This record gives sequence, C-alpha cells and structure tokens, in this order.
Amino acid sequence: MWSHTEKKVKVSDLQGKVIGLYFSANWYPPCRNFTPVLVEFYEQLKTSGSNFEIVYVSSDEDLDAFNNYHGSMPWLAIPFSDLETKKALNKKFDIEAFPFTKERLEKLMEEEREKHERQTLTNLLTNHDRDHLLGHPRPKQVPIASLIGKTVGLFFSAQWCVPCVKFIPKLISMYQKIKQMLVEKGDEDFEIVYMSNDRDQESFDSYFNTMPWLALPFGDPTVKDLAKHFDVHGIPCLIILGPDGKTVTRQGRNLINLYQENAYPFTEAKVELLEKQMDEEAKSLPRLVYHSGHRHELTLVSEGNGGGPFICCDCDEQGSGWAYQCLECGYEVHPKCLSVADRDSTGNT
Ligand SMILES: [Zn+2]
Ligand SMILES: [Zn+2]
Repeated sequence: MWSHTEKKVKVSDLQGKVIGLYFSANWYPPCRNFTPVLVEFYEQLKTSGSNFEIVYVSSDEDLDAFNNYHGSMPWLAIPFSDLETKKALNKKFDIEAFPFTKERLEKLMEEEREKHERQTLTNLLTNHDRDHLLGHPRPKQVPIASLIGKTVGLFFSAQWCVPCVKFIPKLISMYQKIKQMLVEKGDEDFEIVYMSNDRDQESFDSYFNTMPWLALPFGDPTVKDLAKHFDVHGIPCLIILGPDGKTVTRQGRNLINLYQENAYPFTEAKVELLEKQMDEEAKSLPRLVYHSGHRHELTLVSEGNGGGPFICCDCDEQGSGWAYQCLECGYEVHPKCLSVADRDSTGNT
C-alpha cells in the first residue's frame, strides 16, 4: 500500500492493528467534507498511541485526482492502479450503495424489492429443460411443483468441505425430527434441496446417498445461479424459503446450530421467541464455570454484554447470543456445548 508520502508500506506491517477502510472519492462533496473530520479523529487517536490505521479505498476518476485527494490524508491507500483489490473490497463490504445518495439507496432498495417480488420456488429451481429434482432411491425424479407451499431449505455444500461433513449429521437429525413433528401435526411440510459443489459425479453420488432429502442434478447451472442470487460466499450454507417461495433467512445453518429442530420454521417471529426463551433459560445458568475442555474459568456472556458472534471452540460452529468465554485466551463455547468440570480455585482438576 502507499503512505501519503508515496512510500510503500507492507500489508504485513498492519498485522495486529485495528484497520479502518475508508471508501471515498474526491468528486463527491460529502466525502470531501468528511475527510477533514476523519483526519482530526485519526490524529487524535495517533497521538493517544492507539494501534489504529486507516486505508483509503479510492473511487477517484484518475490518478491525478487520487494523488491530490490522498495527499490530504495522513493514512495509507490501496494503490490507484490496483483495480482488482478495490473492486473486491467494494464487493466484500457491499459498497454498491456508494456514493450513498438518497437516489442511489432508493434505487438499490427498489431493485431488492423487485427481486423479492419476482422470486418464486418455480423460477428459482426450474430451468428450460428441467422441472424436477433428484430423489431417493435413484433415479427417482420429484416434480418441483410438488414443493410449492412448503418451507424449503437450499443446502449449499460439498463432500470435500470439512465443516460441511461436520455439519451434516446435525442437519440430518434435525431434518428427521422436523419431518416427524410435521407428520404428527399433519398440516405443513418441509423439504431440503442439496446444491452440490462437489468436484465430480462420483463424489456427488456418494455424498447425496447419505442425505435423506432431494437434490439438483450434479453440475446443473442453476446451482451457480442460485449461489449468486443468494450471495453465498461460503459453505455449508442453508437458505430457507417460506411457503410462498420468498426468502425467510440466509442464516439457516446458524439457527440450526443454536436451536436444532426448534428453529423450524425459521421465521423472524420464531427466532424472537427462541431468543426470549434462551434469555429466560440463561438466568439459571452459572455465571462462572470450569469447562472440561479449557483450563481457565469461563464467564457467561451475552450479545452486547461482553459477547457477540463467535466460533464455538467445542463444536467449531458459529454462535451468537449467550456464550461461555475466557477473554484472555479468546476461548468461547455455546452454553449447550459446556461440560462442567470440577476444579479448585487454582484451576487444577
Ligand atoms: Zn458449540
Ligand atoms: Zn483461558
């Protein structure tokens, strides 16, 4: 990266610092007005010895404009010529809204609304030469029309992906429990469709054979289209569609890790209810506890109260809300993953 004195700075020098990425452009007046404010804030932080750095991600129209504008900034910048990195950062942080004008935001919201309106199960899953999904036993074909009116999970996964292989037994157990529950109620229905990222037909076949649900055929172009449509960046990913074919949540995986089969039907109202229940249950949890997998005492934390999104060190899955934490080690586990160990105050078992 470039410093403001046109000196090159190694990215590795930023390791361990808190970094602000400043998306801005000289031609946009609100940016030009904001830059001096940010400079003042930056210099205050620097004099107080904060371990902080800002990196300018430019949307200037040419190199001269960039040099001029960056000249007014005491921090670093991605080189103007590095279009790839700038584009990737804009995409990663969803800066499509730039320059954040009311018109631009309204246009994006309008596009989002239209996309939502157009979305039906049929136009998501069918293409011009296929109107069915694969079922068991192979080569059973299941018409897509038979899924209309159901809650449907789109499961993006692959056999070569280690977190997927760890997640799938949980998903299968949850799927079977939900199916059982619905048979007893006899009104709604639930289905999962596998979206394969496998490397070849053979691994698809052996992986899909372990799954009790449906699949799009291996190599079907719809898989890629849907990954793009739902902005799937990593697997495993579980997108939940409601009975009307609209997206209910993209957090299916996270919700299953937190609530198992109770997460069904994954709606906002249901999640709110579960969060309340969890807050209620947490009242009876011990504040401090020893867990068999960690040598220090763990503290109960919650979202906004020392906690936040985390990766559970016991089950390797995402978590949020309540957690047991060792701040010193950055160790955190789900309350459900805790196995209490009896220790004395020195930490010895
Ligand atoms: Zn866990
Ligand atoms: Zn610790």
